[in-house]
Formats: sequence, structure tokens, C-alpha cells
Amino acid sequence: MSCKIDYQPTANLLENRVVLVTGAGDGIGRAAALSYARHGATVILLGRTISKLESVYDEIEAAGGPQPAIFPLNFEGATLKDFHDMAETLDREFGRLDGLLHNAGLLGRITPFEQYNPELWEQVMQVNINGPIWMTQALLPLLQQSKDASVIFTSSSVGRKGRAYWGAYSVSKFATEGFAEVLADELENQANIRINTLNPGATRTQMRRSAFPGEDASTLRTPEEIMPTYLWLMGPDSAGVSGQRIDAQPPRV
Ligand code: NDP
Repeated sequence: MSCKIDYQPTANLLENRVVLVTGAGDGIGRAAALSYARHGATVILLGRTISKLESVYDEIEAAGGPQPAIFPLNFEGATLKDFHDMAETLDREFGRLDGLLHNAGLLGRITPFEQYNPELWEQVMQVNINGPIWMTQALLPLLQQSKDASVIFTSSSVGRKGRAYWGAYSVSKFATEGFAEVLADELENQANIRINTLNPGATRTQMRRSAFPGEDASTLRTPEEIMPTYLWLMGPDSAGVSGQRIDAQPPRV
């Protein structure tokens, strides 16, 4: 499906919506949290570095956005109980969830498979796919309480075509695409929940710098520049879209 980089969201697009963003302290997740709040959402900021989440929180408050919430969680080591405790807290505080952006991600190492460290492989799978899967399961009852819930899983071009040396990261993104398709198909008859994957494309963040250290970052779009597609997919204008693979920006030429 073509990207919505030219989408023009209304100012109150996400008014009265409760949206959880994982990895909200940095990079694309930070931009998404700020952008969702700017368009009226009450944003739950989830991540592992509290100081970064606090800085996003302060920025939302300073801009006069709806009061956000901070939920510290490290996907490495997070247990099923942590996800269910989280669901209970959100149920008490909000009673429903209208949006879930699975954005947190770990690159691991770009290295020949022969040399890939099995512990690092497990870590990447835990943060990029296993944690998000069980978090989604715990949050489904809250998503079911919403009139129009959008669940977005973050993919990558290496989750659609394998690339040498990208190891666990690439495999985790294939799994992400697969899981989103399975769940979207399963929930086909629940019109109030849609599940899609979103590939941000090359974006100027710390992760991109680690993957391509020699690249001229000024040639890349910033996280803020790809937000139109993030807003479109989170908001009511994409109602009815489910089980799709969406790109946040046109492919680079
Ligand atoms: P960044 O590295 O800038 O940000 C990643 C975020 O994930 C950070 O907030 C980080 O927290 C959080 N995170 C990492 N590990 C954990 C963990 N164990 N528990 C909780 N949170 C964690 O990456 P990007 O913004 O570039 O990436 C965002 C998403 O987009 C990822 O899923 C990535 O795979 C995907 N993507 C990015 C592309 C790009 O070009 N940038 C291209 C294609 C896909 P902290 O700040 O505390 O480390």
C-alpha cells in the first residue's frame, strides 16, 4: 500500500484517544509520541530509559497537550506477569486502549551468521518480537474496549527481503510481518480493531547511524518528516485498513 507522506491530519485527529507508544524516549518513537499528543491523544510513554521518557513527558506538557503517562519497561527480561500487571494498571487508569504503536527495537549486530552470538540473537528476538507479541495478548481486552483501535507493528525492508549479515534483526522483522498478518486475519470480524505493519524506511536516528556509520545522515528524512503516515495509520482516516504492509515514506532512489 502506498505511503501517506502527504497526508494532512486535522489538529484534533486523535482527540479522546488513549495511545501507547513503545520506545517512546528516542528516535521515531519519540517523534510519534510528541506528534500523537500534539493531535490530541493521551499518550502512554513506554520505554526502558526513564530520563528520556521524562523529557518527552515534559515536552508534551509544555506544549499544552493532554497529560501523558510514563510506563517504564525493559523488554529484555519483561515477563508475562509484567505485561498483565501493565494491562491491569492501564485498565484502572483508562479503561481502554485506542492505539498501540509497537516501535521499540534493537538492531543487534550486523555480522556474518557464523559469528552471530546466540545470546544477542535471543535478546533481539525478545525485544523486537516476543515481548511485543505477549504484550499484545495482555492488552487485547483493553483494545476490545475501544470503538476504533489501531495496532501498528514496526517493520523494516529487511523484514520483507532477507539481507546478508542482518541476522536476528531481519528475522525478527519477518516474524513481525507474519504475526501481524495472522492476528489481522484472526480479528477480521472485529471491525473495531485493525492490525497493520509500518515500515518507516531509512530515517535519521541512532539506530540508522549504528547500521550505516559511513552514511551522510543529512540525506535521510527525520522522524518528524515521516509522521504523516504514522498519524494516518493511528487515526480514524485509516479505518477499515487491516492486515496491510504500509510504508511511511517512498523508497529511496
Ligand atoms: P532508536 O534506536 O533511535 O530507538 C529505539 C527505541 O527503542 C529507543 O527508545 C529505545 O530505548 C527503545 N528500546 C530499545 N531496546 C529496548 C528495550 N529492551 N526495552 C524497551 N525499549 C527499548 O531506533 P529508531 O527510532 O530508528 O527505530 C524505531 C523502530 O523503527 C524500530 O523498531 C526499528 O527497527 C524500526 N526501523 C527504523 C529504521 C530507521 O531507518 N531508523 C528503518 C526501519 C525500521 P532507549 O532510548 O532507552 O535505548
